[in-house]
Amino acid sequence: MHLATALELAADRYPDIDAIVTPSARFSYGEWNRRINSVSWGLKNAGVRPGDRVAICAQNGEAPATTYFAIQKAGAAAVMLNARWKHRDIAYAIHEAGVRAILYDQTTRDQVLQAAKEAGVGEGAGKVVPISCSSDYRTQDPGALAYETLAAGPTHRAPEIARDNCSTNTVLYTSGTTGQPKGVCRSARSDYYSALAIILEHRWERFERFLAVMPLYHTMGLHTLISSVLLNGTAVLPPKPEPGECLHRIGTEQITALYLVPTVYHDLVEAAASGGVRHRSVRKLAFAGAPMSPNLVNQCFDTFRPAIFVNQYGCTEMLAVTVNPRLGPKPLSAGRPALHTRIRIVTADRDRTVAPAEVLPRGRTGEVIIDAASPQTFAGYLNQPKATAQVLRDGWYFTGDLGFVDDDGDLFLVGRIDDMIITGGENVFPGEIEAILLSHPGVAEAAVVGLPDERWGQRIAAFVVPAAPGLTGAELARFCLESPILPRFKRPRRFTFVKEIPKTPTGKVLRAPLRKGKFIPLESCERK
Ligand code: AMP
Repeated sequence: MHLATALELAADRYPDIDAIVTPSARFSYGEWNRRINSVSWGLKNAGVRPGDRVAICAQNGEAPATTYFAIQKAGAAAVMLNARWKHRDIAYAIHEAGVRAILYDQTTRDQVLQAAKEAGVGEGAGKVVPISCSSDYRTQDPGALAYETLAAGPTHRAPEIARDNCSTNTVLYTSGTTGQPKGVCRSARSDYYSALAIILEHRWERFERFLAVMPLYHTMGLHTLISSVLLNGTAVLPPKPEPGECLHRIGTEQITALYLVPTVYHDLVEAAASGGVRHRSVRKLAFAGAPMSPNLVNQCFDTFRPAIFVNQYGCTEMLAVTVNPRLGPKPLSAGRPALHTRIRIVTADRDRTVAPAEVLPRGRTGEVIIDAASPQTFAGYLNQPKATAQVLRDGWYFTGDLGFVDDDGDLFLVGRIDDMIITGGENVFPGEIEAILLSHPGVAEAAVVGLPDERWGQRIAAFVVPAAPGLTGAELARFCLESPILPRFKRPRRFTFVKEIPKTPTGKVLRAPLRKGKFIPLESCERK
């Protein structure tokens, strides 16, 4: 199913249902489809041809959402750029992806215009056309097209182009906890099947109302929007994940489904508690992107009282991989394979030479690999055949994630291969220790790393954000010692209390700053 066709079917089916809602505008499916038609003509008139690439570097709003579908109708590919990037990253992506045009807003204006200037502004080969959807219409940026001009074209149909489901229609950049982000090439086919998988696994239904606050340049944000279109749902797009604004919108727009990273849930439940807010419209919660502590799982249950609450493990390359819909009994499990997915656990090998046949017995920790026959599978990294060949091997996608499957068949993730700690010759996975620490009621957040040690090679160090004052390192050391599942050699040798655990904007723990001593300590306690 081509995404342009999916949108048109939704507009034919229920033209009057709200498709997208922003703080200043509301478009029904009929109106939105017509606006998307106009913008697709606008792109064509700006020189965009089928197969070209058009970048979007903006916070969530009507223009980026509309332009994404207009790019699909124009037969081009959308290159979704992080709105927090500096001009150097944007310039790199413009060059790497051969971008013809780039949409920006007032928050990304300076960085995009500087990057565009370096590439050369204009319609010639290698040049780029900036398109402004800035709300500040008092200034017309030289060389830039105004989005509203683009949206003034014919509305009744889009340009006639052959709709190809298998070529690259979207490039999404991985959030990257290490190194340069990679452009993940996806097709209409892989996006369609990925959306179907989350619709089924998150139990979303026709006319669902979504708080579409995850950025559209992140796989979760984009697939919330695509799923909403398939369901004739309503995507409510606040520009920023600002908790007060989100809670307000949940109430006024009667939001029914949330699909967010744990960090955003954390901020929402805190804001709801301090404001005494109780919204009962939300029936379905899903989180992905990072593990959620059992404390936060409970707070989410208390705040929203959802009928369905799932942990979905996924990645930009595949979207939904596994899903745990039983968070009550097993809050830390990533659950079972999702709709199109087959997984294996194979020997963890930092050199990435292990074969898919080297399957480990149940209960043993190794690398999670996914059968690449899944229709959700990405087509490779943009211009990076070596990096692609490293992860797509012998028909399997090697995730770089470490995990084990328990006796019931449920997956537990314990960290990334690159974060594996080798202490006294033993492999230790940060996630298994973090899970024990998080089960202590005094621990709000925890991250475990290996620090260099002459005797042990690496010594295990835990960084902990306490839930309340009074927690001590001695108490945590005792708790780990008494744990019936944590072997002695896996106990942290050092506990450091910190104000916060450094994370990416999507909530993934950044371990490098902890290893390098870049954190704000509360108090530290060494265990001999
Ligand atoms: P990204 O492609 O940027 O969305 O990041 C994907 C990575 O996030 C995965 O490979 C995992 O390391 C991590 N991740 C995603 N979902 C979960 C989850 N539910 N629990 C733990 N880690 C997760």
